[in-house]
Amino acid sequence: MKFKIGFTADSEYENNADNHIVTVSQNETPMKSVVQVHFPARHMTLAYFNDAFDLHLGDIVYVDGKLEGLQGYVVDVAYTFKIKISDYKKVIAKADTNVKGKFHMLGSHFVTFDRTALPFQKVITWFNAPINSEDEHIISNDNTVFPLDNLSDMNVRQDVAVRGENYYLENKVVYICIDGTHGNAIVRGSKYYEVEFNYSNGEVSNLVCNCFCSYTCKHEFAVILQLREALQNIEKYYTPQYEQSNYFAVISKPILFSFAIEGKDSGSITLE
Ligand SMILES: [Zn+2]
Repeated sequence: MKFKIGFTADSEYENNADNHIVTVSQNETPMKSVVQVHFPARHMTLAYFNDAFDLHLGDIVYVDGKLEGLQGYVVDVAYTFKIKISDYKKVIAKADTNVKGKFHMLGSHFVTFDRTALPFQKVITWFNAPINSEDEHIISNDNTVFPLDNLSDMNVRQDVAVRGENYYLENKVVYICIDGTHGNAIVRGSKYYEVEFNYSNGEVSNLVCNCFCSYTCKHEFAVILQLREALQNIEKYYTPQYEQSNYFAVISKPILFSFAIEGKDSGSITLE
């Protein structure tokens, strides 16, 4: 495999624990509102006060209070209201589904070499609640290193490998990006899991998943298979772009469509 790029000789493992604090999208002026938020996981719709965002129907939001951490959808917005603020919990984060940038076809996924188009910090808000910045996060892992073109060194149980391969074949690895040598991925399982790794000189190290398995898990194996496919296709079609950017992000086609395109009233796409 051609891409054995790395800025650093070896990967000083970065603690990216706070790299997905949700940011309010720029050029957005907050519009005070009382919104009805539907939580699919609980089959519940509740009212929340919002003074931090400009919310519209269909927006994906996260709230404080009892349903903190659950994903909700705005189903009604009222701008005229008289309420006692202390009676209401608040909307604390909004998923940023505004995507701007150039994407190329890459099999089941799209790829972009533009760091600003689809950073991990943005995509993760489509699936998971922001991490409370006051929580402490610790990432630890063993020092296993294996070459991407020889997965027999990966030390994965046979049954786990079979399930991971099925995840890969079913396109459950929705997102992978590599910036320099550090990689982040998102895998759809019973919920959305976050996988981190380093990739340098053709080798994967510091592979870790937040499903807290004590062994190499199916999410990690699925990510590795998708990464191998992505790098092979990038080498085939987009070598100059990747060599120039030392960055790529791949996103499953239906996921990009459903979050960044469907339901949007304006904007444009160009196919060539
Ligand atoms: Zn996992």
